[in-house]
Amino acid sequence: MRYHQAVHDVPLMFEGCESGPDDDLEDEVRAALPEYLLRTSLMLPDLAEREVVKHFVNLSQMNFGVDNGFYPLGSCTMKYNPKICDEVSAWDTVSNLHPLQDVSTVQGALQVMAELEDMLCEIGGVDAVTLQPAAGAHGEFTGMHIVRAYHESRAEVRKEVILPETAHGTNPASAAMVGYDVLDLPSKDGCVEIEALKAAVSDDTAAFMLTNPNTLGLFERDVEEIAKIIHEAGALLYYDGANLNAIMGKTSPGKMDFDIVHFNLHKTFATPHGGGGPGAGPVGVKKLLEEFLPVPRIVRGDGVYSLDHDRPRSIGKVKSFFGNFAVLVRAHAYIVMKGGKGLERVSEEAVLNSNYLKEQLKDLFDMPYGDLRKHEFVLSGSVLKKRGVRTMDFAKRLLDYGFHAPTVYFPLIIDEALMIEPTESETKDTLDAFAEACRRIMSEDPELLRSAPHSAARSRIDEVKAARDMVLSWRGYLKKSDATISRA
Ligand SMILES: *Cc1c(COP(=O)(O)O)cnc(C)c1O
Repeated sequence: MRYHQAVHDVPLMFEGCESGPDDDLEDEVRAALPEYLLRTSLMLPDLAEREVVKHFVNLSQMNFGVDNGFYPLGSCTMKYNPKICDEVSAWDTVSNLHPLQDVSTVQGALQVMAELEDMLCEIGGVDAVTLQPAAGAHGEFTGMHIVRAYHESRAEVRKEVILPETAHGTNPASAAMVGYDVLDLPSKDGCVEIEALKAAVSDDTAAFMLTNPNTLGLFERDVEEIAKIIHEAGALLYYDGANLNAIMGKTSPGKMDFDIVHFNLHKTFATPHGGGGPGAGPVGVKKLLEEFLPVPRIVRGDGVYSLDHDRPRSIGKVKSFFGNFAVLVRAHAYIVMKGGKGLERVSEEAVLNSNYLKEQLKDLFDMPYGDLRKHEFVLSGSVLKKRGVRTMDFAKRLLDYGFHAPTVYFPLIIDEALMIEPTESETKDTLDAFAEACRRIMSEDPELLRSAPHSAARSRIDEVKAARDMVLSWRGYLKKSDATISRA
């Protein structure tokens, strides 16, 4: 075990430096600016480029990312992000556009977006796509608004959204945010139980949200039957596209009879996850729902692209301008680079890697609901409990071996869950090394695990506090620490 993270003493950029480059404005620049544009309270650290580079490079060495190691964080599809996609998105013709430019000057950008919409339609088996939503969860939120608009257009009020108990937490949250009551459906052998679904649907069912393969990595074989039950009840079927990496080219949400789908570009299509954003979660729909998509729609006539705002039944806008354009460009580059056959191969290798690793680990842990998995699998760390060790301890110990921790304690129906998704981008050697590390950790002193990680820049942090008590800016930090804002 030779992994060790760097530790740097990195102060905040604001600490110990003057702020406000606006103070340095040259007299003639100052004179040329209207009075009301002269800001006096602009709080920015006044640092040389060299200092900024040092700051961020040092910080990056104290972190773990997809570029420096295996990152099997289940459900998140932390695949390698090819650098060519970053390069393309940095081109002048991409990064120097302004969203308020006249459409005649951004025809190329509109073409890239229209092409991406078309490619996602084909991959997803849907008829129309909006690129606006900024994440998968935002796509769900958009999709639920479309569900509501659809039922309203039929003069129906439906109050309930059903989802299986393996659902990701964002699913119930999105449905609730749009005002729906959420009904949790119990599973059988890890999959939707048809009889329970039949008993749950009613005139009040607005939609059923499902991901397939589900979060256990199991393919819901009864999906056609599920679609039939939902549609006969007059409800819509929503596809959570987070697990699309398992099925590309083999089937599609459209073929499985889903009506609405979101794509997590930062998962399946190799764009950066970026600490919660910016990402992109385009939403695709079948023909009957196209009129409800957000405005503006990109339309083409006589070889010219334009923006159509005149859509009376649209749910409106869900994001400013076009969504996260630089992210969309990266996904476009990735899809074009892979091609249809390439994407199919991505899914084949993701599933192969997952099953290869599962075979190596399944005897070390419990694996409920046996059998083959798709792109990810979930183990139960309940065997560890007997030794006084939790799944979280095991996960943290993996960091000492240079591997990012898998997802833990999700899905909720598995005790001490450990959710592993290797993705297609790792070599057999990496998978073998990971399995070997797991084997070794299993025979280590429990105390070593409980106090892990030992080789990371930081030991355990208070994750609940970090999520609930966020301080995201210097201004917020000052507010919180009750310090007075003083400016030179
Ligand atoms: C990641 C994920 C989501 C949410 O997507 P974000 O892009 O992170 O908002 C929803 N469902 C599942 C199953 C996921 O893995």
